[in-house]
Amino acid sequence: MPDIIQLLPDSVANQIAAGEVIQRPASVVKELVENAIDAGASQIKINLKDAGRTLIQVSDNGCGMSDTDARMAFERHATSKIKEANDLFEIRTMGFRGEALASIAAIADVELHTCQHDQEIGTFIHINGSKVIKQEATSCACGTNFMVKNLFFNVPARRKFLKANSTELKHVITEVQRIALANSDISFSLIHNQQTIYELGQDNIRKRIGILFGKNSTQNLIPVNTETSLVNITGYIGQPKHARKTFGEQFFFVNKRYMRHSFFHKAVMQAYEKILPPDSIPSYFLFFEVKPESIDINIHPTKTEIKFESESAIWQMIRASVRESLGRHNVVPSIDFDQ
Ligand code: ADP
Ligand code: MG
Repeated sequence: MPDIIQLLPDSVANQIAAGEVIQRPASVVKELVENAIDAGASQIKINLKDAGRTLIQVSDNGCGMSDTDARMAFERHATSKIKEANDLFEIRTMGFRGEALASIAAIADVELHTCQHDQEIGTFIHINGSKVIKQEATSCACGTNFMVKNLFFNVPARRKFLKANSTELKHVITEVQRIALANSDISFSLIHNQQTIYELGQDNIRKRIGILFGKNSTQNLIPVNTETSLVNITGYIGQPKHARKTFGEQFFFVNKRYMRHSFFHKAVMQAYEKILPPDSIPSYFLFFEVKPESIDINIHPTKTEIKFESESAIWQMIRASVRESLGRHNVVPSIDFDQ
């Protein structure tokens, strides 16, 4: 029998990797905006056409890339953010896998303009389906500008699974909300088909919550602030009377990264026990700061699931901290329901 195993060409390997990281336009937005944050940008602009199907443009005023790095950035496992295995246990950046750009370039048409701050000449690169079409020196603004066109042009099956533009746009808005909440010191704009959806200046967190979710949700927000050696918990929680029957304004962030955490959600729910209208969920915007080495971010490609070293201790602290805030604001009823 002849040998039958062969190594996949990079373009195919990248397309497979893209399947994990890039599910829809919102995933591209997330990856590009996170890169802009890692590049130290204070201003990030997102411009979409047709909910990102035809165009996703993300531009930033971050550090930019050198000519060589601009090309390297599209290689798989190419990253400036970690160097060795040990770094994986102490992640301080949003990215570290070095997979996003290679994945995006495998399944779309990508144009990159980038220029470092101390340079006058920048770099332009055009890549289509992992193939470099053009790379040349160019004069452009300091920072980085990605234009991602015709997403999934060479993956019809994926394209077919995209939902209506209104649904895809909702996913983008959800991603932008999460990132904008976690980075209220960065200004963001989000424009869709030439209509401005968000124009966010550099804010504090409370103001940003107000702009994103409307005055009604922020009027009676209760601050949370607990500092321990294990975790700092800050942010805001909603009044029980404003709790809703559906999920929507529940946010956990760890070290500025949005995360889902059903176990921690239960800690918040327990803190609100007996003071919520039946079947309703309070809003919360809770930010955890922990030592980077005490969490594992590397368990899922989209990094929204995170493992904590001291999960049950933090669970207790969340419940205590939320309870204490509710109590401090006289939200906890003075009549004991058990009596
Ligand atoms: P990762 O973010 O995991 O490192 P990516 O594929 O997203 O991987 O990006 C690869 C590299 O390209 C980054 O490590 C970074 O050095 C560079 N890069 C990407 N986007 C930007 C940007 N907006 N500004 C500056 N450098 C960038
Ligand atoms: Mg990245």
